Amino acid sequence: MHVLLAASELHPFSKTGGLADAVAALAQAIAQAGCRVTMVTPLYRGLKERYPAIRPMGWKFDVPMGPDSVSGEFHRLDPAPGLSCWFVDQPGFYDRPGLYNQGQKDYPDNAQRFLFLAKAAMLAARFHPDPPSILHCHDWQVGLLPLLVQHARVTGIWPSAPRTVFTIHNLAYQGSFPVEAWQYTNLPLSWFHLESAAHHGRLNFLKGALYLADALTTVSPRYALEICTKEYGCGLEGVLRRREHDLTGILNGVDYAEWNTDANPALPHAYDLHHPAGKAANKAELQAEMGLPVRPEVPLFGNISRLTDQKGCDLIAGALEVLLPDSSLQFALLGSGDPVLEAAFRDLATRFPEKVAVRIGFDARLAHRIEAGSDFYLMPSRFEPCGLNQMYSLRYGTIPVVRSTGGLADSVVDPRDDADRATGIHFHETTIDALVWAMRKAEAVFGDPSALQHFRSNGMKADFSWDKQAMEYLHLYRDVLHGP
Ligand code: ADP
Repeated sequence: MHVLLAASELHPFSKTGGLADAVAALAQAIAQAGCRVTMVTPLYRGLKERYPAIRPMGWKFDVPMGPDSVSGEFHRLDPAPGLSCWFVDQPGFYDRPGLYNQGQKDYPDNAQRFLFLAKAAMLAARFHPDPPSILHCHDWQVGLLPLLVQHARVTGIWPSAPRTVFTIHNLAYQGSFPVEAWQYTNLPLSWFHLESAAHHGRLNFLKGALYLADALTTVSPRYALEICTKEYGCGLEGVLRRREHDLTGILNGVDYAEWNTDANPALPHAYDLHHPAGKAANKAELQAEMGLPVRPEVPLFGNISRLTDQKGCDLIAGALEVLLPDSSLQFALLGSGDPVLEAAFRDLATRFPEKVAVRIGFDARLAHRIEAGSDFYLMPSRFEPCGLNQMYSLRYGTIPVVRSTGGLADSVVDPRDDADRATGIHFHETTIDALVWAMRKAEAVFGDPSALQHFRSNGMKADFSWDKQAMEYLHLYRDVLHGP
C-alpha cells in the first residue's frame, strides 16, 4: 500500500509541537510495517542548509491561487527505506522566520500558504508514478485537501483519486479565515456551504475536512469521545456527532529511538529500569544547570510546554503560589508563549530563586534533561488531544501529574483506578485547588520510597511504541479502502 501523508510540520525538519513528532513517527512506523510512504511538507527557511541531502527533484509546477498562478518545486530526501519526504519549495510562502507566525502574530496569508501546500500534495499524489491509495492529512493546514480531492473525484477530473483520512491533532486550531479566502481554492462557490467549509460566515479549513474526508481519526480514544460534546467540541461538535461512526481515536506512540534514557546524547548520565542510579545523577545535573540548589531530598517538578491556556500553565503558577511558601519542592520550566504567563513564571523565579527555575524559549536537548532530571511532570491541561510529554515522562521514570482528560486519561494510570498498575496521579477539576491537591499527593509519594519505586517502575515498563499504533492505522486504511 502507498500512503501519502501531508502535514505542515515534520520532525526533525520543522516543529512547533507534538504534530511534528507524531507525523514523523507514524510515517516511519507504517514504512517499517511495509507500506510505501511519501510525506509532503513545506521547505521552510534553512532546511536546505541544515540538510544538504535535500535535493531538487526536477519537478517544477504551477498551481492556480485565485486569479494568480503560483509556482513551486519539489525537493526530496529519502531518510529510510520505503520513506520519502517531498519538500514543497515556494520561498515567498515558506522562507520566513516562523512556521505560522512571527512574534505571536499570524502571517496574514496563511490561507494561501497552506492551500498551496494542499494543492502541491494533491499534485504529488495525482502525478506520482506509483499513485497512493490513501491520502492521510493532518490538522487544519491541510484541511481543505479532502475537499479538493472530493471535488476532483466527483467532477471526473480525477476519478481514481485516493481515499482520504484526516487526523485531528488539536481541534482548537481550525484555520478560520474571511470568506474571501475561498477564492484561493479555485473551486465553484456552490462548494462553499454549511456542509463543507462554511462556518459562522467564515471559511473554516478544519470543518471542510470533518465533512469531506472519507475517515476521521484523532489522537486518543478519550479525546474522540470528548470532541463530540459541547464542552470540548470547539463549536464543531455537531459535525463530529454526525460523523461519529467515521471517527476513530488512536493514541499516538512514542519514538523510543529518540526518547530513551540509555543511549541519549542529550543526557549526561545513562540509566534505565535496571540501572536507576543515573536518574539521581541527572537530577543533580539539572538542578545545577537550572541554577537551583542541588538537593536530592526535595521533589523536583518539571514542565515543558507551549505556555497557553490549553496547557493549564496558569494553574501551575497559581498552585506554586499556594505551595511554595511552605513546601521545599522545586520546579523547572521550559517553554514560551503567552507573555502574561512568561512574566508570571519569571516573577516566581525572582521571588523563589531556590525553588523555581525558568527558561523561556525552545530547546529540544534541555527538554530531554528536564524529563530525565525531574521526579514529577506536571500536565494540568484543560484539554489534551494526546499529549506526548506524559508518555516521555513515563519512560524517563518521571511520574506524571495530569488532569484526567484526553490522551492524559488514556496513558496515565491513577492508583484509584488500578493500584497495581499505577503510573501517575490524576485530578479532575480545572482549578488551582485540584492541582495543589495532586501536587501534595505527589509530595507524599516522594516521601515514601516504596510507593515512588512502584510508580516509577510501572511507568518505565509501559510500552507506547509506534509499531502497535501503526497497526491500528493500517487496519483503518484497509477498512477505508475495502469497507470494514
Ligand atoms: P502540543 O503538541 O500540544 O504542544 P505535546 O505534549 O503533544 O503538546 O507535544 C509537545 C512537544 O513539543 C514535545 O515533544 C515537547 O517536548 C515539545 N516542546 C514543547 N515546548 C518545548 C520547548 N519550549 N522546548 C523544547 N521542546 C518543547
